[in-house]
Amino acid sequence: MKKLLFGLAIAGLILAQGTVDTATVGKIRSEALEHSDIMHIEHMLTDRYGPRVTGTPNHEAAVDWLIRTFNSWGLKNAHKEGWDFGHPGWLNERASAFLVAPVHENLKFEVLAWTPSTRGTITASVVQLGDLPHGAGIPPPDNANAGGGRGGRGGLGRGPQYKGPTREQLTAWLEVNKAKIKGKMVMFNKAAVIPVSFDPIATRGNDEQLKAQYDPNSPGRGRGGFFGRGAPRTPDPGELGNNDIRDVVDAWLIANGAVARFNDAARANGIIVAQQHNAYDPSKTIPTIILRNDDYGRIERLLADGDDVKVELNIVNHLYPEGKTSYNVVAEIPGADKADEVVMLGGHLDSWHAATGATDNGIGSSIMIEAIRVLQALKLRPHRTVRVALWSGEEEGLLGSLAYVKAHFGSAEEPKPEWYKLDCYFNVDTGTGALRGAGIFGPPQAAAALRPVLHMFEDLGMYGATANNSRNVGGTDSTSFANAGLPGIGMQQDPIEYNTVTHHTNLDTYERIIPDDVKKAAAIIASAVWDVANQPEMIPRFTRDQMPPKPADRGN
Ligand SMILES: [Zn+2]
Repeated sequence: MKKLLFGLAIAGLILAQGTVDTATVGKIRSEALEHSDIMHIEHMLTDRYGPRVTGTPNHEAAVDWLIRTFNSWGLKNAHKEGWDFGHPGWLNERASAFLVAPVHENLKFEVLAWTPSTRGTITASVVQLGDLPHGAGIPPPDNANAGGGRGGRGGLGRGPQYKGPTREQLTAWLEVNKAKIKGKMVMFNKAAVIPVSFDPIATRGNDEQLKAQYDPNSPGRGRGGFFGRGAPRTPDPGELGNNDIRDVVDAWLIANGAVARFNDAARANGIIVAQQHNAYDPSKTIPTIILRNDDYGRIERLLADGDDVKVELNIVNHLYPEGKTSYNVVAEIPGADKADEVVMLGGHLDSWHAATGATDNGIGSSIMIEAIRVLQALKLRPHRTVRVALWSGEEEGLLGSLAYVKAHFGSAEEPKPEWYKLDCYFNVDTGTGALRGAGIFGPPQAAAALRPVLHMFEDLGMYGATANNSRNVGGTDSTSFANAGLPGIGMQQDPIEYNTVTHHTNLDTYERIIPDDVKKAAAIIASAVWDVANQPEMIPRFTRDQMPPKPADRGN
């Protein structure tokens, strides 16, 4: 009987809607909207424990607080699971920089993660060398959609892109310039010129476009959720890659006595994106800061006047060797009669260090934590187990979720027993904006199975689900599941200020959260998780024949 109903349900939306437990969804909605704890959770993750860089005591303290919190709510199996990060944790304790000649000013900057401290307070003259040599220009991809979006780790998609230099070109350039850097603070490229923008910063999605995107009957609908970037460009013979250039230049800076390096933040309005030196080894480079574009440009203009520009700099960073093992944290509501089948929800708890990681991804974590709190507070007992997971190492390459998926599930090609028992995984990781749709890895029937419960939130601007077949790793942790052939779900959100202001920046703080949006998000996620955990069958997934091939590892 149940089987028959389910078969009919995916055949027709109207009957499918009838299968949603509307009374319980109503209770979930009122608990999430009227008794929300989400801004307290977000306060703890950001103000109390942020920034939560992978491998740091801050991150681990947040993990430990979550385990205590999950236990206090009566969730089961709350624990942390270690994985091998392989690098020490890094945290900046203090940093100050002042322009001391030819005028006095305090500089606005952030420290590049995994770079070393200065030896106390140092004062030195600044030298600007210009661009490193490069190869030919790379034509922009057809779908270039600038804006420093999710793919923008490192490069911000600004200006033309070039191929790398050969080793001969690079060493010749360095040889010419090496006498200029002894005892100096070094700037390379010219300051980026960022024109005044006449576009509004904060935006919501367009309702008509979103409705069409998630309408299963609309022929030209787009794809929801996140997708990995395309295949990396194959380098020319002899062309140095970014890591090669980094290593050669770092060794040159050390060997020739440079005392600090300044990078240009290259963003307007004092926004500074601060990520990592990706050798993860401070002994291999020199103290490095990212100056706001305005200060970088000012120093450049003063140097062009012929002035001796001096800066006083003091940076104190700490390394935590124990951070080589990092932790994901999980907790469960055990299922009643199908406890071995698991519906997961999660997001990455780790952040960058320039602010408190409020929109990336304190709030995605908070939405998932609040969603399971709501289910537990209502004493709901789903048929299947509901498991929340908060990852670390996302910012360094989805490392925590990839390690978890590998350890628990394996892959479509080499499945472990748990691979067959994971129903699906919900992920939120695009800031504070309202949830507008879900993109699930799987056949069209997978999206159809999510639609009835999501359509109950159309009044909140949630328009449904689409299916995709991308197994590329990239963007966020749902792709770690899709990469293994599992139904990973990425939630599409209103952009608000994510790519324009907060993503990986010094402005990613609690103040940027829209409480109304995130309370509603928790209501939607909790309801969807509840619905999926009680559907007669697990979410339909690709059969062995339909499964797209696993993309080749891109190696980072
Ligand atoms: Zn994120």
